[in-house]
Amino acid sequence: AVSQGICLLGATGSIGTSTLDIIAQHPDRFHLVSAVAHSNVDKMAAICERFAPRSVVMTDADAAEQLAQRIAHLPVTVASSADDLDAIVSAPEVDQVMAAIMGFAGLRPTLAAIRAGKRILLANKESLVTAGKLFMAEVAKHEVLLLPIDSEHNAIYQSLPQSQQGAMLKDVDKLLLTASGGPFRTWSMAQMQDVTPEQACAHPNWSMGQKISVDSASLMNKGLELIEACWLFGVTPEQVDVVVHPQSIIHSMVSYNDGSVIAQMGNPDMRVPIAYGMTWPERVTTQVAPLNLFQIARLDFEAPDLTRFPNLRLASEAWYAGGTAMATLNAANEVAVAAFLQRQIGFLDIAKVNEKVLELSPVGQVNDLSVVFAADEQARTCAAEVIASRSYT
Ligand code: NDP
Ligand code: MG
Repeated sequence: AVSQGICLLGATGSIGTSTLDIIAQHPDRFHLVSAVAHSNVDKMAAICERFAPRSVVMTDADAAEQLAQRIAHLPVTVASSADDLDAIVSAPEVDQVMAAIMGFAGLRPTLAAIRAGKRILLANKESLVTAGKLFMAEVAKHEVLLLPIDSEHNAIYQSLPQSQQGAMLKDVDKLLLTASGGPFRTWSMAQMQDVTPEQACAHPNWSMGQKISVDSASLMNKGLELIEACWLFGVTPEQVDVVVHPQSIIHSMVSYNDGSVIAQMGNPDMRVPIAYGMTWPERVTTQVAPLNLFQIARLDFEAPDLTRFPNLRLASEAWYAGGTAMATLNAANEVAVAAFLQRQIGFLDIAKVNEKVLELSPVGQVNDLSVVFAADEQARTCAAEVIASRSYT
């Protein structure tokens, strides 16, 4: 097969690093054409030395300048503007775009990749959550292959017949979305009151970026994933059951109407769904720790607790509110998580801020992308005000 050209959005992050590992494991199948990050010059310089991409975008202008000086000896173009970013994802040498920028910032380049007809490897769930209707319409219009990288959605994709992957589901009763429950799964509200960012970021099974680690601890990650599943597979929240499964070995399941339940299992290692997406419909030998069932010995399941973890309920409410409500919830959460990481609000306040901002924000119809960007901006301003005035308590 011809080597596939990869454009890696979020190259310096956790998913970016795992993606580079898959590229390095299969130099005959993949080559890095371009890479994007925000400001991590050291890491991007190391990526340029090792993988020799043609072009790099650092969205922070100072970082772009520093990087350009640092790697002046390499034939790599360094740019910084949003237009440069659109241009590199759309370049003809690019076959696949890994969308792994953190948060709403990933929406614009991911849409540019869709419009350019690239294979989309979607890790950046926030872009689908916020602009789902338009996002899926663009995917259909440009007939692009959209492969979910989020481990749960990748597991569901793998548990569907090939004819139904990326189509409306037939003979499916429910999607069973598994959740580790995060580091505070068994903690009381009183215990969660004073947790630190360090405690929230120490995920029991997965090593991830800070924002998604906090989201996992607050179950907002599962809330975003619930909405992500609805957009990807054409279902509604009633057709998705969240199943808390602390070992994170079953990555999700599909329950069929004949009583069969198909699950995808494996060690919690993002390189597995990443390699699956990059090589689909083939599989490729990937160097990851093999699943040792005797060592795992047992798998546990429990229902999620919506009282201790209200974010999951808010996500479902935002889906049914429809329109811009999902962009509002996502933006509120991005601001609240950043405030928590900066120790401005407590852990339990994240969900309170989210709920307050949802309450205060009008819901508009999403028939144009500008509406999504406006809702995002409005919700960020609203969240900042709610936090500053402490009006969420
Ligand atoms: P990290 O925080 O580790 O990495 C984020 C990446 O995005 C970095 O490369 C960062 O660059 C870049 N970035 C941040 N803001 C911008 C911006 N404005 N413009 C351009 N680049 C930007 O996050 P993760 O890798 O953990 O997560 C990335 C995405 O994948 C998220 O949407 C997350 O929800 C999703 N995901 C992650 C999983 C995981 O296991 N980590 C699992 C499933 C989904 P810099 O380093 O320069 O700041
Ligand atoms: Mg996930």
